[in-house]
Amino acid sequence: MTGKSAARGAPLFKVRRSRVHGRGAFAARRIRKGTRIIEYLGERVSHQEADRRYEERGARDSHTFLFIVDARTVIDAGAGGNEARFINHSCNPNCETVLEGRRVFIEAIRTIQPGEELNYDYQLGRAPDDPPDVDEIYACRCGQANCRGTMLWPPASEPQGAAPRPHTARRAKRAPPAKSAKRGPARKRKQPALR
Ligand SMILES: [Zn+2]
Repeated sequence: MTGKSAARGAPLFKVRRSRVHGRGAFAARRIRKGTRIIEYLGERVSHQEADRRYEERGARDSHTFLFIVDARTVIDAGAGGNEARFINHSCNPNCETVLEGRRVFIEAIRTIQPGEELNYDYQLGRAPDDPPDVDEIYACRCGQANCRGTMLWPPASEPQGAAPRPHTARRAKRAPPAKSAKRGPARKRKQPALR
């Protein structure tokens, strides 16, 4: 499986087993900083529908196919998703997500060498009905020196809203938090980088 660059047609990355989590996406050649690597594709559904779809997987399944577009819309990469869904989380990522016209793109924030695993910071949101061990369920194994130990944001040590979300140079606009009223904990969603 390969991620194809729309511009050049040459595969930018290959999907194979990752030591971090399941399968991962690995650079097939040098990717320059600023390169738009792939669009995060999947069926666009409401937050409510996303929760309904993944409810039966249970709160202990840490696979995340959902990406927040805004307060109304979630991209479900589990339905019609592309290889973007295999890009893993890292606390010291080489990519970021960019929200543009309600579409989500993954771009390189530094030059990536062939064979390097692509990753971005998922910044999975917290919810009041999270199980007490939610940080263990969504534990991060990125192995980076600054690893915060969880794919969630903010870290458990920080009160909700106290810590600024990590971001790169550009200006910030975060997606509104998802609202959901349901029985089990809401399925975790990846969030766009702050702009
Ligand atoms: Zn980490």
